[in-house]
Amino acid sequence: MPGKRTDVVVIGSGVIGASVALELARRGRQVTVVDKAGGAGHGSTSASSAVVRFNFSTAAGVATAWEAHFGWRSWAEHLGREVGPLARYVRCGMAMLDVDVAPRSVYLPLFRNAGIPFEEWTSVDLSERIPGIDVGRYWPPKRIDDDEFWAETGTTLGAVYTPDAGYVNDPQLAAQNLAAAARAHGAEFRFHTSVRGIERAHGRVTAVTLADGSRIPCGVVVNAAGPWSTRINELASVGSDFTVGCRPLRQEVAHVAAPVGFGADNRAGICVADMDLGIYLRGEAGGGLLVGGTEPECDPLQWVDDPDAVTAHPTTAVFEAQVTRAARRLPALEIPNRARGVVGVYDVADDWTPIYDRTELNGFYVAMGTSGNQFKNAPVVGKFLAAIIEQTENGVDHDERPVRFVGEHTGLAIDLSAFSRKRPRGTANSGTVLG
Ligand SMILES: Cc1cc2nc3c(=O)[nH]c(=O)nc-3n(C[C@H](O)[C@H](O)[C@H](O)COP(=O)(O)OP(=O)(O)OC[C@H]3O[C@@H](n4cnc5c(N)ncnc54)[C@H](O)[C@@H]3O)c2cc1C
Repeated sequence: MPGKRTDVVVIGSGVIGASVALELARRGRQVTVVDKAGGAGHGSTSASSAVVRFNFSTAAGVATAWEAHFGWRSWAEHLGREVGPLARYVRCGMAMLDVDVAPRSVYLPLFRNAGIPFEEWTSVDLSERIPGIDVGRYWPPKRIDDDEFWAETGTTLGAVYTPDAGYVNDPQLAAQNLAAAARAHGAEFRFHTSVRGIERAHGRVTAVTLADGSRIPCGVVVNAAGPWSTRINELASVGSDFTVGCRPLRQEVAHVAAPVGFGADNRAGICVADMDLGIYLRGEAGGGLLVGGTEPECDPLQWVDDPDAVTAHPTTAVFEAQVTRAARRLPALEIPNRARGVVGVYDVADDWTPIYDRTELNGFYVAMGTSGNQFKNAPVVGKFLAAIIEQTENGVDHDERPVRFVGEHTGLAIDLSAFSRKRPRGTANSGTVLG
């Protein structure tokens, strides 16, 4: 079936694909976004805790998160078009509790270089700033049926506090805002539209074929299919030169009532990254608390082959483990006897760092491997891809001369080879969602 030609097809309308579409449409490209779901942000974006923090293990990771957070803080300006009700940035701050596997000595120099404000807290500061918190150091994280789980400890921990961290109150709405702004710049969105194949000729992508048998001829394709991204790469027969692979990982985030005193005056409490117990905590205005996991070694990881086959209901076992750990840290927290929360899927790269790059197939690009930590970066990821595509399509090899991206808010230079598909498999990353 013949189809209308477009410059670029973006596969996936999550927060990443919608951001890529906006930046390309802004630059005058004719963009068609296809998504098999019924609307923007219905994939893994919809389950996101949407925490915005700056702790990453590399200079590029820290600089990207710091640059991106200004996009959230000036969301209407970032979108540049009137798009109706907006997602909102809640600047509640984050306390990263001390842990030897991600020591201050690694990330504070990166904060200083990037100009990120922070406060170093002792355990006394921590107990004053987060009333009711238990400042015990319990490393390593344990299963809750381990006899040692409730063992007393003689040592305490402090934290590094970043006042500018926070969260976006509605991640799906954020993706919809980006899609609406892209549409206002001329992008077309086609929902309930599943990609079934990628056509090529003479080493270059030529069209995307759809489940209904139709095709969209195009010069450029961006794979932003989240946990389905490896499948899309397989359809395109790319990946032979990737040093980093990606796999879908099932995740649960528990929703409970915050203990009294966590957050004052109906405001969200400070976010807490607690690798010491293997959890993160994110408050909500009005008294809710989200409890997620940081992949402690004692818990089995739930790798999945098919993201569509993931059961959507939280399990009692994971809920109890996460909430009991949260109650170790916040002893006033009550543990409900019914599991409540969300289930989502991460697209985990081997080194928990995303891949924003071209591929060996000319015209085929990827924004994948977002590893449970790239919602926060969505405002700049679209710009990264636009810069990589522009340079590559103008004949400059991004592999040989990687794009050096300069953040418009921070002036920080970010070498995008940090997100290359061919990067060396280093050990700098935390091996967890913290990146
Ligand atoms: C439980 C959970 C908590 C998280 N918490 C945080 C956090 O606190 N902070 C943070 O920064 N990040 C967090 N993340 C990560 C962040 O949410 C993701 O990195 C981000 O949302 C990924 O967006 P995406 O657009 O790449 O993928 P998705 O939102 O999954 O979008 C991919 C889209 O591709 C479409 N698609 C797939 N296959 C096809 C096909 N064949 N044809 C057409 N369309 C297709 C899907 O329908 C989907 O809409 C979390 C993720 C999860 C799951």
